[in-house]
Amino acid sequence: MSAPARFNRLALIGMGLIGSSIARAARAQGAARSIVATARSAATRRRLAELGIADHVMETNAATVEGADLVILCIPVGACGAVTAEIRSHLAPDAILSDVGSVKGAVIRDMSPHIPAGVHFIPAHPVAGTEHSGPDAGFAQLFVNRWCILTPSAGVDPDATERLAAFWRLLGANVQHMSAEHHDLVLGITSHLPHLIAYTIVGTADELSQVTRSEVLRFSAGGFRDFTRIAASDPTMWRDVFLANKDAVLEMLRRFHEDLAALTRAIRRGDGETLFNHFSRTRAIRRGIVEIGQDSPDPDFGRPHPDLSHERLPRPYSAES
Ligand code: NAP
Repeated sequence: MSAPARFNRLALIGMGLIGSSIARAARAQGAARSIVATARSAATRRRLAELGIADHVMETNAATVEGADLVILCIPVGACGAVTAEIRSHLAPDAILSDVGSVKGAVIRDMSPHIPAGVHFIPAHPVAGTEHSGPDAGFAQLFVNRWCILTPSAGVDPDATERLAAFWRLLGANVQHMSAEHHDLVLGITSHLPHLIAYTIVGTADELSQVTRSEVLRFSAGGFRDFTRIAASDPTMWRDVFLANKDAVLEMLRRFHEDLAALTRAIRRGDGETLFNHFSRTRAIRRGIVEIGQDSPDPDFGRPHPDLSHERLPRPYSAES
């Protein structure tokens, strides 16, 4: 029999893009009987109350996790260790504790020392996002047809892992298991390095004194626009990602420098064949991504999902603190 995907009480700490999308998707899919949420600032908590996407908005992280059978930290990776220390004595015995951090090794290192016996710690990373932040940015379909990578360590209860996997599948995601180390390497090349390149290019264009800012904006459709979208991603989140995944990113950067040097050489020598062959290879990679449904020719993120197409209206918010 498959593991039940539905939880009694889902606690979400951090209600930005990812946390608020989980709340919306979990509500739409009936994945939890009640959803309890909090955020660091009073302003975000007030906004959550207005949005009504959680059943209860709490003042503190500790109060949020009381009695929850699934707790998910949806906060910047650099904050995960301290928040786990804060909530540890409030976690229900047998609760599943997870996160959504874009880096896994550092999060596991920071959280593990604070996990009480009996609590199932199952790190996760939904590989889905936009460049927007905050509770208004989330939407129920964010995870549909996207991957959610679970990186449980050996010895974690397989039933608990399967329950969390079933939860993510209910939200529309495809679930993949991986070691934390491999995750960080894979995401280093597929996500972290592209973000670093985008941040660099947009900064370089901004500093190019012979080209005016209005020209940069006017002619941005020539490739630059896609970089600006990526480079608009949340500065706190990405600062933490690069600090936390330092080794993998430095290794990918080393390889990138080598490949860039090869293309630079080809341009300098007028070696069109090398350029053509390289661009043909990369074009095939792009077509492969579209073919396996991880992007469409349109620059959108979520795809309509039959089960989520009629997201239910939010239930009334009730304060509980
Ligand atoms: P976000 O929109 O900036 O939201 C972050 C939330 O965390 C905010 O609600 C913030 O509260 C709260 N927060 C920060 N520190 C906290 C603390 N110490 N205690 C309680 N709440 C705290 O960020 P996000 O994009 O959802 O990213 C959250 C996590 O998801 C990160 O670990 C990121 O690596 C991961 N992730 C992001 C993406 C993406 O594309 N954005 C994709 C996959 C995974 P305030 O609003 O009050 O400041």
